Amino acid sequence: MRRRSTGAVAVAACLALASCSVTRGDGAAPSGPGRPVPSITTPTSGGGASTTAAPSRPSDEPPTSGDPLPDDVPDSTFPGLGDPRIDVSSEAVTVRAAPDDPEISGRARLTLRSTVDEPLTSFTLGLRGPQATSITVDGTAARSAAADGELTITPGSPIPPDTDVEVEVVYAGLPDQTEFPGWGMPVGWQADDEGGWFAMSEPDGTATWAPVNDHPSDKASWTVALDVPRGVTGVSNGRLEGGGPTRTGDGRDRWTWVEDEPMASYLVLAAVGAYDLVSSEHGDVQVVRAFPADMSKGDRAAFDPIEDILDYYASQFGPYPDEDAGAIVVPTDLGLALESQTRPLFGTDGVTGDSAPALAHELAHQWFGDAVTPETWTDVWLNEGFATYADWMWTEHDGGPTVDDTARRAARSGPADEAAVRDPESAGSFSAAVYEGGAVALHALRQTVGDEVFLRILRTWVSTNGGASANTGDLVAIASEESGRDLTGFFDEWLDQTPQPDLPR
Ligand SMILES: [Zn+2]
Repeated sequence: MRRRSTGAVAVAACLALASCSVTRGDGAAPSGPGRPVPSITTPTSGGGASTTAAPSRPSDEPPTSGDPLPDDVPDSTFPGLGDPRIDVSSEAVTVRAAPDDPEISGRARLTLRSTVDEPLTSFTLGLRGPQATSITVDGTAARSAAADGELTITPGSPIPPDTDVEVEVVYAGLPDQTEFPGWGMPVGWQADDEGGWFAMSEPDGTATWAPVNDHPSDKASWTVALDVPRGVTGVSNGRLEGGGPTRTGDGRDRWTWVEDEPMASYLVLAAVGAYDLVSSEHGDVQVVRAFPADMSKGDRAAFDPIEDILDYYASQFGPYPDEDAGAIVVPTDLGLALESQTRPLFGTDGVTGDSAPALAHELAHQWFGDAVTPETWTDVWLNEGFATYADWMWTEHDGGPTVDDTARRAARSGPADEAAVRDPESAGSFSAAVYEGGAVALHALRQTVGDEVFLRILRTWVSTNGGASANTGDLVAIASEESGRDLTGFFDEWLDQTPQPDLPR
């Protein structure tokens, strides 16, 4: 992600951790890892809670979960998200939507397994706004309770260890937006300026339009089918199945996009509206640019450098980690750009003059953030510090200032003076500490180990962890291994202390 028109990127706006937390649709305080399983509540119309599927006990009786783990992923930056007791391997979602209609309906099929050794009696999925009307696990109706933007699902029988189950959720209703912490921009399913819809989902917006294990520690392959009125275009990640829409029984168009590479939930893209899809082949990679139909030729040209940037990064970081690439521009001023997998998301304000200033940053995320995803939000510098640094490298390669000049200028601004790079406050507010501070730390690493070892560390980081989630400890181990020296203290000084040391010459 990159905020628009930021030389200095976001200033830390959160003064306390609590205020950095995700705003929940119901205004409830974020819940920590230790919170109890939500209790079953009675159905409401349009409220935040409901029950579904054949309950076999009184609706006010709380589920008695003997499950050994809390129902949220321990993450001090954004607590209350995801469920560490399950691992979703694939999700296929069909969403029915139409321009000018704020309601959606959908059907999601998730293949998941338990991560705990004992039989799992219940688990949660994020779903914020739409109400589930039917939930089955392996075809059998499951009990469920909705509260705090999460569905607690209790299968008819516990899920045994090491066994895949198929979970199907049918749902409908109004997506419930949140705001991007510290930046105040809408997160989730939202309107563009021309009657269409799109999703900007970092950090927790996907749950506004699909039930999801909404945490970057659980990546899955995704199929997103957008069922829209005839003539409307649906855009998502990866490859368009069949090269175009299929006609549904009721005369609508269904655009089915498949992303086989594991994808974190916040990187899932959905957009519905009047788009031109411009496809081309680049080696083995299919590139699809999605532009608003009325976007000028000149503005479209701002995205011409995609292939050159990908080639340059591949020469530095290793092969492009996917078979699909591109970009999407949605017809609204977005205030930021997001690295949605294979197809980064820009607003019309993402084009300045004849260029898209965030393009190199968002494309770098395809390696750093999308292929290798941080295990927790506290490690978001592994996304933003790396993408910032890669952007500096592209700028130098493209004839701009050298990385060394840029890094020293960034260091002088003291990006991590207020809070350290890995401080949950920095991560939660996406502050300059994680962007420039993280990138300055990488430059210090390069100055310390030399160009050759530095690039080897970056390449090994991607080749070892591509398709998975990893943490700063994994990076320290790789950097120490590749450089032949223990860099634990180095990373501690640069990432966990304030102020950062002086950049080595
Ligand atoms: Zn970014």
